[in-house]
Amino acid sequence: MRTTNWMVTAALLVSLSAAAQQAANSQSPAPASAPDASQESQSSRQTAAAQPAPPPASQPADVQSAPAAQPLPAPAPAPTTMDDVVNLFSQHEHGLIKMLAKRTPIVETYLQNLALDPQLGPVPNEDHYFLGRMDMGETIDRKDYLKEEEKSMQQRLMGGFQRLYKVQYQPLGFSWMVYADRTDFDRNHYEFRYVRREFLGDVRCLVFDVTPKKDAGRGRFLGRLWVEDQGYNIVRLNGTYYPAPRNSYFFHMDSWRLNLIPGYWVPSFIYSEEGDFSAGAKNKMAFKAQTRIWGYDLKRGNKDDELTQIRVDSVNDETPANQDASPLQAERVWQQQAEDNVVERLVGGGLLAPEGDVDRILQTVVNNLEVTNNIDLPRPVRTRVLLTSPLETFSVGNTIVISRGLVDVLPDEASLAAVLAHELAHIVLGHNLGSKYAFNDRMLFSDDTTYQNLGFRHIPEEEEAADKKAVELLKNSPYAQKLDNVGLFLKALQARAPALGALLTTHLGNPLASNGTVTRLAALATQGPALDNSKLDQIAALPLGGRVKVNPWDDKAEMVKTAPVAITSARDKMPFEVTPFFPRLNRYGASALPAAAPTTAAASPNSSTPGSN
Ligand SMILES: [Zn+2]
Repeated sequence: MRTTNWMVTAALLVSLSAAAQQAANSQSPAPASAPDASQESQSSRQTAAAQPAPPPASQPADVQSAPAAQPLPAPAPAPTTMDDVVNLFSQHEHGLIKMLAKRTPIVETYLQNLALDPQLGPVPNEDHYFLGRMDMGETIDRKDYLKEEEKSMQQRLMGGFQRLYKVQYQPLGFSWMVYADRTDFDRNHYEFRYVRREFLGDVRCLVFDVTPKKDAGRGRFLGRLWVEDQGYNIVRLNGTYYPAPRNSYFFHMDSWRLNLIPGYWVPSFIYSEEGDFSAGAKNKMAFKAQTRIWGYDLKRGNKDDELTQIRVDSVNDETPANQDASPLQAERVWQQQAEDNVVERLVGGGLLAPEGDVDRILQTVVNNLEVTNNIDLPRPVRTRVLLTSPLETFSVGNTIVISRGLVDVLPDEASLAAVLAHELAHIVLGHNLGSKYAFNDRMLFSDDTTYQNLGFRHIPEEEEAADKKAVELLKNSPYAQKLDNVGLFLKALQARAPALGALLTTHLGNPLASNGTVTRLAALATQGPALDNSKLDQIAALPLGGRVKVNPWDDKAEMVKTAPVAITSARDKMPFEVTPFFPRLNRYGASALPAAAPTTAAASPNSSTPGSN
C-alpha cells in the first residue's frame, strides 16, 4: 500500500533557475591537475574561438538597465547579535517577495529519472521537460509554453511517476521552491541556529540551520541557509519541507540566488535529487532535476500586457539613394524583415538571449566555415542562443539559432561547427525563404503560445540535402581533421537517445533524433573511434550546464569560466546529464572580475583552434 498510494507533493516544480553553473563540470572537487584527461576544452575552445573579437565586459549595460526600476531596500543598522541578523534576513526575505510580486519570469525544469548502471552509476533512463511563465504575485501561478495546456505543469512533471506514486500537488509547493517560507518565515515559526561563517564563491556568508517549531504546521522549511554578511540576504537554501502531510512527500532541493540587481539576491536555480542506490536500499524514486529561472526583466513580463507589437525599425532599406528597389532587393528586404521580426519576438518572449558574447564565438565558427568554402551571401549570417535546454538548432532567414543545452553538451569546436554547418547549409541552399513572418500580425500572440505560433522545421528532403551539404562544408573547413570527434559525439548521443526523449524533443526546429535514433549528420556517425566509457580521455559529450551561463535578470548569455577538472572514473563523464548547480557567487557589480581562475587553453586534446590546421 505504501508504494502505490504514496503521494508526491510537487514542491519540486516551481522553481527556478539559471545562471552560472560552472559547477556542472567541476562538481567533484578534484584538483585541476591533469589537463590532458580533463573535462576539457570549454576553456580552450572559448579562448580559441573568441580570438577575433574579445568580448567586452557587459557590466555597463547591466548597471544602467537593471536597477532603475527597483527601489533599494532601506539600509539597516549593522546587526550586533545573531538575533539581529535573523531579523534582518527574514525582513529582507519579505522585501524580496514584494519586489518580485509583479514579475513573471520563465521557469524551466529538466528532470532525468535514474537507473543504476554497474559501470556508470545512476544514469538517466527517462526524462521530462517543462517550460512556463511563473507569476510571482499573491498566488504563485504559471502558464506553460508547451502544448498540452490542459495539463498543468505539476501534473505532467509528476506524470513520469504515476506508475509508482499517486500524486498530489499542493499549491504552496511552488513558492516553497523559490522562497524559504512565503508566509511565516520568522522566529515564531522557526528555530534559527547559527553554524559558522563560510565563503560561497567571493561572498562571505553566515550559515544557519533552520528547523520548524513543533506547532508550526506542515510543510515548513527544514535545512540550512546561507546569508551574505553585508546586506544580510539569503543567497542559498538547502533542505526540504517538514513535516509532510500524511501520504505525501517533499523533494530535497538546493536553491541558489544571484545578486543581479543592487540590494537583491534573486532566485535563479534549484537542483533537486532523490534516490538511494546503496546496496539493499529499496529504491522508490530516483531522479535529478535542474530548474532554471530567467526572464525577470522581460519588457512584457506584465500579465496585463501579453499581446505585443513588434516594431520593424531594425530593417534598413539598403537600396542606394534615389533608386527604387529591384524585385530581388525587395525580396531580400522582405526576408530580412521576417527574420528580424522572429528574432525580436523570441527575445521578447524570453526564449532567445539578447545579442552577446556567446554569439561572437558562434559567429567565429560560422565564419571559419564560410571563408574556407568561399561562401559569399548577400546578407551576413548571424548566430543567436536559444535559452532553453533541449538540444536544438534552427535557422530563420540568415540567423542560425542554437540552444544553450546543445552548446553545453558539445565536446569541442568541431562538433559545434558540425551542428552549425547543418543550418548554414539550409541558408546556402536557399531553404529559408519562408517569409510569412514578415507580416506583423503573425507576431501578435501571447508568449506562452510561442511554440504554437512559430516553427522553422524543414521537410525531410531539405534535411537530407542540408546534412549532405554540411558534410561538404566541414570537409573543406579547418575542422576537416576533427570530424572523428563529431562522430564520437553522435555515437554518444545515440547511446543516450532512447532515454532522453524530452531533451531531444525540439520545439522550433527539426529534431536531431527521431524515435530514439539520431538522424542529424548520420553520414558522420560512423566516423571516429568506438564509444568506450572506460577510456577516461575519451570525452564524447559533456554534462548539461557546463558552458553557457545566463543572467536570469536580463537574459544575457556568456561562456562559463571553469578550470578543467580531472576525470577519475567513467562515472565522472556524465554525458548529457543533469548535475548540481554550484555557481561562484559574487556581489552585484563585482562580476567584471574574473570569476574563476583563467585556465590555460591549448592543453586539451579535443580543442581546436580555427586556422591552426
Ligand atoms: Zn535542418
